[in-house]
Amino acid sequence: RTVTIFVAGIAVIALVALVTVGVLQNKPLPQKYKYGIVMDAGSSHTALYIYQWPAEKDNNTGRVTQTDSCRVDGPGISSYASNPRGAGESLGDCMLKARQAVPSSRHGETPLYLGATAGMRLLNIENASASDAVFQAVEAALHSSPFSFRGARILSGQEEGAFGWVTVNYLDDRLTQGQETTGALDLGGASTQISFVSARFDGTESPHNLMTFRLYGNDYNLYTHSYLCYGKDQALRKMLALQTASGPTSLSDPCFHPGYIRTRDYSELYASPCVARSKPQASPRNFTLKGTGDFDSCRTAVKKIFDFSKCNFSRCSFNGVFQPELQGSFGAFSAYYFVLDFLNLTDTSAPMETIKDKLREYCATPWADMQRQHPSTKVKYLAEYCFSGTYILTLLTEGYNFTADTFKEITIIRKIKGSDAGWTLGYMLNLTNMIPAEAPDAPPAAPR
Ligand code: AMP
Repeated sequence: RTVTIFVAGIAVIALVALVTVGVLQNKPLPQKYKYGIVMDAGSSHTALYIYQWPAEKDNNTGRVTQTDSCRVDGPGISSYASNPRGAGESLGDCMLKARQAVPSSRHGETPLYLGATAGMRLLNIENASASDAVFQAVEAALHSSPFSFRGARILSGQEEGAFGWVTVNYLDDRLTQGQETTGALDLGGASTQISFVSARFDGTESPHNLMTFRLYGNDYNLYTHSYLCYGKDQALRKMLALQTASGPTSLSDPCFHPGYIRTRDYSELYASPCVARSKPQASPRNFTLKGTGDFDSCRTAVKKIFDFSKCNFSRCSFNGVFQPELQGSFGAFSAYYFVLDFLNLTDTSAPMETIKDKLREYCATPWADMQRQHPSTKVKYLAEYCFSGTYILTLLTEGYNFTADTFKEITIIRKIKGSDAGWTLGYMLNLTNMIPAEAPDAPPAAPR
């Protein structure tokens, strides 16, 4: 019996040794994925997105997907003008999350980009040295990460619009096959973008609205425009500025719920290049904003921030901006989604009158009821959904000229196949040359 135990023991030791040698001899399995990180420094907040794609083959559409995202605590980086270091520090938690999400063996080769949009465009207009200081702090923070930091910069409005369009069409797999593309509607806090391919637009009438792409062997003439100051936060400022032009001490505002009351500071309201020039010469320190909750009057007030009086082109949207005839389907994302989802108005096939009726009822709901019904919604958002919904409807119909018919062509989206709709993915695909100009020789793999 002792001999049997002894032999069995030897056998076990030999087996363990063999397995160990075997494992050591095998090279570690190669990592299956590569990664890329883009930070979207928006006007109201910064978000980080992590993308991955198969390591062995990365040139096919639909192969890059978003694996993770992180919302930076606190406001957007443009709010750190008087404390630039805070902007860099604010990114710490999301950078840590990215280090955990990307395998460490890939850290050094993972590109990291930061793109800032209209919040920083405005700060740059208002105070260029403050904007530089914010970038310096942000760059220092990102340089100290283990990733391959490839720069922080302000995107132009055209880039923001065009890369949003690339993202949506890439995720929908519309680029490889030369299919009809989808237009992109993006609503931020400080600017809003519209981008679409129109057969009648080749840039002749308005060259700065043209972005040309050659993708997978197809040429695209993309119309794109970004309206600075027409993101929903700046649009609200513009409306309030028109309403307070004479410097009143009190304002009855139809875009806020009945019973809503708040003191607003004049200097704070007018502290933006979007409205600074219309600041009343003489005004008290503040005014009392009282909601009256009247959708139809709200529409009238909102409409006043658009200028329809001049157009030097064959056709315009508003403010004298050229816009060709709308064509095809559209995806509307970011704040379009947040607002219309909250208002249960994402069904664009509903008749326009039904949408208006719902907003009318919504805006007329007393503020006390709203707070009771939505105790966990951020009060700032809750207070502004009536304005935001009215603004979105006005922008789409009166601004961009969507009609009762073409409105149905808009799909309100947040994500496509798990990836957020927005400019970040298109930006990364472009900077890493992941969308080839010519069609690959082999047919692309089917999306997983
Ligand atoms: P930006 O920071 O420029 O990308 O703009 C995003 C816009 O969406 C800002 O106006 C935010 O206030 C707004 N936003 C973000 N989340 C929500 C939400 N849950 N409800 C309403 N508005 C939102």
